[in-house]
Amino acid sequence: MSIERDIVCQDLKVRFEDIGGLEDAKRAINEAVILPLLMPEFFVGLRKPWKGVLLFGPPGTGKTMLAKAVASCTENITFFNCSSATLTSKWRGESEKLLRALFQTARARVPSILFFDEIDSLLSQRGGPAEHEASRRFKSEFLIHMDGLLSDAGEQNGHLFVLATSNAPWDLDEALRRRLEKRIYIPLPDENARHRMLEHFLKEIDLSDVDLAQLATRLERYSGADVQLVCREASMNPMRRLVEGLSPSELVELRAEGKLSMENLSVSMS
Ligand code: ATP
Repeated sequence: MSIERDIVCQDLKVRFEDIGGLEDAKRAINEAVILPLLMPEFFVGLRKPWKGVLLFGPPGTGKTMLAKAVASCTENITFFNCSSATLTSKWRGESEKLLRALFQTARARVPSILFFDEIDSLLSQRGGPAEHEASRRFKSEFLIHMDGLLSDAGEQNGHLFVLATSNAPWDLDEALRRRLEKRIYIPLPDENARHRMLEHFLKEIDLSDVDLAQLATRLERYSGADVQLVCREASMNPMRRLVEGLSPSELVELRAEGKLSMENLSVSMS
């Protein structure tokens, strides 16, 4: 396991413009995360920057995308993508060692973000006497490092903070939840946001005969990930019409005859 190779992300390529809706969340992220990185001189004293930021809300609403967009839009930031798979080792003591190394490296590479996706899977509530000893040790180690961050009086060389996401914040260890002091709710998209997502996902498809506004109304309670799935399914329609009722061997024949090609596909979505 190498932190540089397995955890530091170089090229994230997620842009805020690709994230539909979530205007309130984006504003909150600007204030809590982007501005402290861009303008550290303002974030002093009472306005000291948040050291633990939690994006929480239903699954598939764009929490991971938002976190990655933060890293892509700020220059010179080091983004440590810490998954529970890379951090939890079956070898006694290894996970804590890795965590220590991670915080150390992040400090040496400021400005930096330690990103923990689905942090509840890594640090859930203390499980009483039945809780596995390794998990208890890992949590304690994590809390020690969080406390170190929170008590940093002044950062001379740059800003380091923990950014985490969770679908189930109520499952998080209470002591950790307290340390993730800034919480930003990422809701399901409203009708307007769903409409913009539909336009974004379907931008390469001829939509002259589709009423996107009506479709957006019908997708109430769909998450961004659900809307994307609907669009993927719908984008198959031209192919479905072309190959309707054909067996796999007929498809192979059709392709060999040059009749299964992009020219034969109607791009209409109706
Ligand atoms: P989970 O909590 O299940 O991990 P999440 O909230 O982190 O989900 P993402 O992983 O960021 O959600 O999003 C999943 C996929 O859904 C994205 O890759 C993206 O294609 C799509 N998606 C979700 N929300 C949006 C959005 N607001 N705008 C554009 N795409 C979105």
